[in-house]
Amino acid sequence: MRYADQVVLARRVHPMTADGPSYEVVEAVAIRGDRITAVGSRAEARGWIGPDTVVTDHGSGVITPGLVDAHSHPILGLRMTAGHDLSGASSPAELQAGLAAAAEATAPGAWVQAWGLKPDAWPAPGPHRAWLDAIVGDRPAIVRFFDGHAVVASTRALELAATADLVDVLGPGLVGRDAQGLTGVVREPAGLAHLDEAIPQPSVHDEAARLHDLLAAMAATGLTTVHALDLEGDALAVLEAAEARGPLPLRLLLSPWCGPELDEDGWRELLALQQRSGERWAVRGVKIFLDGTIDHGTAWLSRPDRWGQSDVSLWPDRDRYAAALAFFDRHGVATATHAIGDAAVGRALDVIGGLRPAGSTLVHRIEHIETAPDHLLPRFAEVGAAACMQPTHCTRYVTADGSDNWSARLPEHQARQAWRTRDLRDLGAVVALGSDWPIAHYDPRQVMADAQERRPAELPDAAPVGPEQRLTARMVLEGYTTHAAAADGLSAELGVLAPGARADLTVFADDPLELAPSALLTCPVLATYVGGEPAHRHTDLHR
Ligand SMILES: [Zn+2]
Repeated sequence: MRYADQVVLARRVHPMTADGPSYEVVEAVAIRGDRITAVGSRAEARGWIGPDTVVTDHGSGVITPGLVDAHSHPILGLRMTAGHDLSGASSPAELQAGLAAAAEATAPGAWVQAWGLKPDAWPAPGPHRAWLDAIVGDRPAIVRFFDGHAVVASTRALELAATADLVDVLGPGLVGRDAQGLTGVVREPAGLAHLDEAIPQPSVHDEAARLHDLLAAMAATGLTTVHALDLEGDALAVLEAAEARGPLPLRLLLSPWCGPELDEDGWRELLALQQRSGERWAVRGVKIFLDGTIDHGTAWLSRPDRWGQSDVSLWPDRDRYAAALAFFDRHGVATATHAIGDAAVGRALDVIGGLRPAGSTLVHRIEHIETAPDHLLPRFAEVGAAACMQPTHCTRYVTADGSDNWSARLPEHQARQAWRTRDLRDLGAVVALGSDWPIAHYDPRQVMADAQERRPAELPDAAPVGPEQRLTARMVLEGYTTHAAAADGLSAELGVLAPGARADLTVFADDPLELAPSALLTCPVLATYVGGEPAHRHTDLHR
């Protein structure tokens, strides 16, 4: 027999294969090239070790398949996190201090930028450029909401972007107006794009350096693959420049956006993009926004919210969305539909269900699913749609007492149908987990811990939101391994430790299936391997 190139040892290995290995004890993984050739006990591993085999013993560590974040924005997020971090500001006073600091730190003439704005932090009667102007004066300024779906722009920023000229093109839903004219609130990708064009952008070289640093930080939390649900602007150039600097610290899958404005020529361009790849990145699938967010009144609910908003799709032509999905399905391209409101979720399920009789074998995904009634839940398994969910959007931005903006907008019965992770699992759905960084922290330990508690795992006294939706430790690990891989149609390659799978490994200091969630939050990640190559080592941590 041929010996392994590498053997990686630990106290325990969780292969996460469906039937489970027949071994009583799994403590070793054999790797040849970038693939796993065997898993087994330490005794068995002796037979894999030849004179040239590199043996790494992680001692008391516990190995899982490399963790996959099913939904993130590592490249778009570089822009979304430009400037001052406001995510810690919860009151108007804190917000004012943060914005004043941002203005202070910005060179004269440059755009003042800040991100992470919580809707509840702005003083009554709500976000308006006048309050921002009072802090930044006549400078261009843009303040991004935490959910990435809206901004508040200063008067000077609106002038530079010529927003007033675009109101009729974009429509009142995307550009806020009142008796005094523009409010400064601009929403959704179509609205935000014209502002971004007005902001001087960093060079591809600088963005590539930031991307490398970000991916290294993500790898240090245990991630070996991140599915980026965007590929906008100069993202391909940034990826190529980043890879020229050295191997990416993890794999990236990237899904460009397909908006309602694209015609079939536009769809074909997205098809052609599917061929693009590098050493550790590949374009895979397309992302479609069927609605926006509940916080901004742009979700698509079956009935308007309490403010009379969130009752329309971002696709004015219903049939066009179905035509787009059918087109991509026919060409073998999986889609990921952003569907937050129950009407959007129902529509996505209907359309995906309609592809099956046509012979589709692709896994199409539905992203977010923030509120959904009972009757929609069994349909995920029935039509084979994967649910991709972000538990920390619930645990970090929604409160059990319903006092937050998200809950306040929804009728009570819909607010109670929030992020139904456990119901979907119990009904046999694939439930891939993710962070949606920079909307929430990318650390998979935080997402896995919170999803088990339905509250911030470090706050034992916080009331859980929908405690019946708690996932087990195994379910959350599956959400980052087997289920994440299944959602991308990559079950044989990723998310398992089995012969033939890619040698992507995460090594925890302790067992994530046994740790209390609060301990999982801070459990060190000793190492990650990507295609057999060490990607992160614990000593790399600057702690
Ligand atoms: Zn997202």
